[in-house]
Amino acid sequence: MAFQKTLSILKPDATRRNITGKINAKIEASNLRIIAQKRLHLSIAQAQAFYAVHAERAFFGELCQFMTSGPVVVQVLEGEEAVAGYRDIMGATNPTNAAEGTIRSEFAESIEANSVHGSDSVENAVKEISFFFSELEIVG
Ligand code: ADP
Ligand code: MG
Repeated sequence: MAFQKTLSILKPDATRRNITGKINAKIEASNLRIIAQKRLHLSIAQAQAFYAVHAERAFFGELCQFMTSGPVVVQVLEGEEAVAGYRDIMGATNPTNAAEGTIRSEFAESIEANSVHGSDSVENAVKEISFFFSELEIVG
């Protein structure tokens, strides 16, 4: 077991429907603690930079449009095995495939508007956290 940090984003479909508190309640009901959080409205350039790994994917343009369609809430979550643990409670990318009780199963609107982002590895978590947060803003 390893104590880890991961980056979470509550996506524009979640802020639009005013359900960020409901999602945070599910996060806090797991073994994860929200140790940094802020609300941002991403620019297209910021969304493209954050999702650069997906630049060749067919959905990249639409994904960047969606992620800039409204405010997001970016967060740092901390806990034992936080990276995989958050992926578990998020559920599968496509909500149709997301296990019952997961955030995406309960809240996602579609494969694109799927309410949350979570880092997919410890290495990417470090990069993604530093994309949005300075050390001063992370209070464990
Ligand atoms: P995850 O967020 O589960 O790690 P990916 O990293 O594969 O999933 O994709 C990043 C985001 O791109 C997804 O969360 C979703 O918002 C969007 N996305 C993924 N696949 C598709 C698709 N086939 N069509 C539209 N949007 C997609
Ligand atoms: Mg991903």
